[in-house]
Amino acid sequence: MAGRFLSIGECMVELSQAGDGLLRKGFAGDTFNTAWYARACLPADWQVDYFTALGDDQMSAEMLAFMEAAGIGTAAIRRIRGKTPGLYMINLKDGERSFSYWRESSSARQLAADGDRLREAIEAADVVYFSGITLAILPREDVDTLLSELRRAKAAGKTVAFDPNIRPRLWLSLDVMHTTISEGARASTLVMPSFDDEAAHFGDDSIDRTILRYRGLGAMNVVVKNGADGVTLNFDGEQSFVPAAKVKKVVDTTSAGDSFNGAFLARYLQDGDAQAAARFAVRIAARVVSEHGALVDPEKLRIA
Ligand code: ADP
Repeated sequence: MAGRFLSIGECMVELSQAGDGLLRKGFAGDTFNTAWYARACLPADWQVDYFTALGDDQMSAEMLAFMEAAGIGTAAIRRIRGKTPGLYMINLKDGERSFSYWRESSSARQLAADGDRLREAIEAADVVYFSGITLAILPREDVDTLLSELRRAKAAGKTVAFDPNIRPRLWLSLDVMHTTISEGARASTLVMPSFDDEAAHFGDDSIDRTILRYRGLGAMNVVVKNGADGVTLNFDGEQSFVPAAKVKKVVDTTSAGDSFNGAFLARYLQDGDAQAAARFAVRIAARVVSEHGALVDPEKLRIA
């Protein structure tokens, strides 16, 4: 095996409108979406695994089967008796999308409660990916468990990639959000923020400010996504820019950042060329925003 990619977080049941009051069921969640795109873009000799906690209900079983069918390993996933996965619904009103969530007591909130299992999964991986949402859903003592395992992985020379994915509503307070996201960055080797989030919630007045802040926390590498305005990279202090790919018609931006991250990591892990990885990832993200839904069929992502 060439390498092992592990993504840690929450995958939810997704309900979307299917017309006539009917709902379509799917499965998605930021870190799972990134695993999906990493799987689609990595060669077969890479293993991609997902780490979360699920329940013992039918929905959990279906989610596991869905992950397996996508080629994503589920062996490390904890099953908790009596629990169920989180759920969200995509509402459509006059062409505008909004989201309703039921995730306060989801199984994934206990994903780091079994520290030994978490350590085993991280030790078996070469690359670990997590997000601000992963941190936001955990009780504080489990945030500590996860961060200390990530710091061990970083010290062992592994790639630890983090998307702050800032969602204020998931956090107890803005103070806790700022502190914990900064701790997440400190445990990482590569931080992959979206500039609009960082400007809105950390008050960054420029992309340089975002890069300086995360590098100052000890992340050697930073990739700042800025929608249609391209991507700024800073790897070991060397800065460069990659423009976004042109999109004829933006259909659905769900998962744009997640797909960029998965595609970027897939390329970067193979040869360490961050600029080439970004050029590839902006093309994948452009395909993803041209299609409906969080998870675009890998067949539609083939890029010559
Ligand atoms: P997020 O979804 O995390 O907010 P962005 O909006 O920055 O992240 O989008 C992530 C990536 O998706 C961008 O770096 C870019 O490559 C691509 N992308 C997003 N919106 C567009 C767009 N309108 N045109 C072309 N590419 C886009």
